[in-house]
Amino acid sequence: MSCDIATALRDAATQLAATSDTARLDAELLMAHALGLTRSDMLLRHMREPAPEGFAALVERRAAHEPIAHITGEQEFYGRSFAVTPDTLVPRGDSECVVDAALEAVPDARSIIDLGTGTGCLLLTLLAERPQATGVGVERSDRARAVAVGNARALGLSGRADMVARDWTRDGWRDGLGRFDLVISNPPYVEAEAALQPDVRDYEPGEALFAGPDGLEDYRLLVPQLPALLLPGGVAVLEIGAAQDVAVTQLAVDAGFAVTLRRDLGGRPRALVLRHGDA
Ligand code: GLN
Repeated sequence: MSCDIATALRDAATQLAATSDTARLDAELLMAHALGLTRSDMLLRHMREPAPEGFAALVERRAAHEPIAHITGEQEFYGRSFAVTPDTLVPRGDSECVVDAALEAVPDARSIIDLGTGTGCLLLTLLAERPQATGVGVERSDRARAVAVGNARALGLSGRADMVARDWTRDGWRDGLGRFDLVISNPPYVEAEAALQPDVRDYEPGEALFAGPDGLEDYRLLVPQLPALLLPGGVAVLEIGAAQDVAVTQLAVDAGFAVTLRRDLGGRPRALVLRHGDA
């Protein structure tokens, strides 16, 4: 027997409480997706209509820890929608502070490079916020790069965003890229043996998450190369894990940078802003 949307949402929120800290929101996002409506339109105008057939199956997937973004194929980041697949990380709210730090540090950025662009959410958000800028997104995964290219197109940014296939674990990866006002990166930074939530561990790409036994392997590779990617006066903004501020700051100081820490909305260390000591 079918019930109305309001009742189905209530039941789904109860069912998902064991899986998710945001069970009610998850249920609403899945229902809006099943209906092909925005969440607000659904909540304001459709609650007494019958729940759609397919909703229960979507809730089952979420109950098995599949991320909402994988089920719906999209995630909002900094007020825009980004296509997401299992080949990319799901854009995280915590990463919005990388965008804020970059917008403040280089308000007039004209050239931006994003190392490990994934969905493209960092680079494309900055390009959308800074209409005078052009950008390069570096991505070693062909499948992730295809997602970034699609997102650039969907946001009308294809003409200013060049998504290139490079792998910074290989020699010569920087050849021909040039120099930039702003380098941004959310590289892999999770410790190899870290205990992750099943939503992340079982569904998101390990190559975007793990960076050796201490999670610092990619910073060790990238930070010493940042001076060669920056124009004079350029700035790099790196996302970091909450316990990595001291270690990554040391790498940056060793590479000649002065470093400022940014915290995320939860008050945890989340980004480092790197400027040349003499700039
Ligand atoms: N913040 C992510 C997580 O906790 C990790 C992202 C990354 O490794 N760059 O799952």
